[in-house]
Amino acid sequence: MKEQPISLSSPDIAEADVQAVLPVLRGGRLSIGPHIESFEAAVARRAGRKHGIGVNSGTSGLHLCVRALGIGDGDEVVTTPFSFIATTNCLLFERAKPVFVDIDPENYNVDPTALEAAITPRTKAILPVEVFGNTAHFDTYERIAARRGLAMIEDCCEALGGFLGARPAGSFGNCGVFAFYPNKQITTGEGGLIVTDDDRLADLCRSMRNQGRDTSAWLSHARLGYNYRLSEINAALGEAQMRRLDEILAKRRAVAEMYHQALADLEEVGLPPMAQPKQASWFVYVIRLADRFSRSDRDAAMEHLRKAGIGCNPYFVPIHLQPYVMELLGTREGDFPVTERVAARTIALPFFANLTERDVGRVRQELGKAIAKC
Ligand SMILES: *Cc1c(COP(=O)(O)O)cnc(C)c1O
Repeated sequence: MKEQPISLSSPDIAEADVQAVLPVLRGGRLSIGPHIESFEAAVARRAGRKHGIGVNSGTSGLHLCVRALGIGDGDEVVTTPFSFIATTNCLLFERAKPVFVDIDPENYNVDPTALEAAITPRTKAILPVEVFGNTAHFDTYERIAARRGLAMIEDCCEALGGFLGARPAGSFGNCGVFAFYPNKQITTGEGGLIVTDDDRLADLCRSMRNQGRDTSAWLSHARLGYNYRLSEINAALGEAQMRRLDEILAKRRAVAEMYHQALADLEEVGLPPMAQPKQASWFVYVIRLADRFSRSDRDAAMEHLRKAGIGCNPYFVPIHLQPYVMELLGTREGDFPVTERVAARTIALPFFANLTERDVGRVRQELGKAIAKC
C-alpha cells in the first residue's frame, strides 16, 4: 500500500474555529466590526502591548510600520538577508535602503555586533526578524536601537506567543508585526497584526489601513492610505484561534520534541536551535546538514524526500540572492557567507500541530536514506 503524502504544513482548524466563523457569515457585518477589535485586543495582550491593529497580511503590517515611522527615500534600515522577502519589500515600497548584515550561525538571527557596525548617520531604523520563532538577541537589538537613537520594527511574524526571558514576542522596539498565513502558528487564512505602545503610531496605522481615513469623519481622508483591512470573517477565525494559542503551541512543541528525539542519532543533521525551549513558539522545523554537504547534496536529499511523499523546502533562499534584489541593490554571492553557508544546507521538514509520531518516524527513515545517498 502506498503511503499518504505528508505535507510541509497544515493549519490546525478545530470545530470550535469553524463554529466561530459561521455566525459572522449569518450576521451580515463582514468588515471592521466587533471581531477585529476583539482579535486585536487578544494579540496585543499576548504581546504585552497597548494597541493592536489588524491588517490583511504581515507584509501590509510591516509596510504600515515603515510609513508610520517616517522611513522613506534613501533612509537606511539595517536588516537581515536570512528572512522571508517581505522584510525587504516593505522597505523598498518606500524607497528606503535595506542594509543587510550577516547572521549569528547559532540561532540564525541577525548578528548584533554586525548590526551595530552597519549603523551610519543615514540609518533610521533596524528591522530584525525572529527567524523560525527564535527570540534570541531581541533584548540586545532593542538596547542598540535605544543607544543609537534608532527606531526598531520587530518582524515577529514567525514568533507569536514566544518569549525571551519574561518578554513576549512583539514587545520589542517601537512596534511588532505578526502574520497569519495558513503555515503560521495560528491562521486567519490571510492576515497580519501590528502591535505597539505608541498611540500616535497606532492611530496612523489604523488610518492608513483604511484609505487614510480620518477617524472622526466619514469619507474624509487625512492622508494617503491603503486598503489593508482584515475582514470580520478572517478576524473571527483569528479570535477563535487565539483562544487555542497555548494549546496549539504546546502541540507544536511536542512535535518539535518528537523530531529532536527521532533525529538525535543522525550525526550529520544539525537540529534547530531555540532560545527558550519550554516557552518556544515553533514556526517551522528546519534542520541543517553538516558543512561537508553541498547545496546540490541538499537539493538531492529534498528530491528524495519529495519522491517519498514528504513535503520539504529550503528555508530561506537568501534575500540578497533573489534575482531582482541583486539587480536593484547590486548584491552578490559571497556577500554574507554565514547566511549563504546556512541557507545552502537547510531543509524544512513537515511541521504542524497535528503531525503524528508515525509521520515523524517516516520522515526520519527517509531522511536517513536521503543523507546516506549523498
Ligand atoms: C510570514 C512572514 C511575513 C508576512 O507574510 P504575509 O504572507 O505577508 O502575511 C513577514 N515576515 C516573515 C519573516 C514571515 O515569515
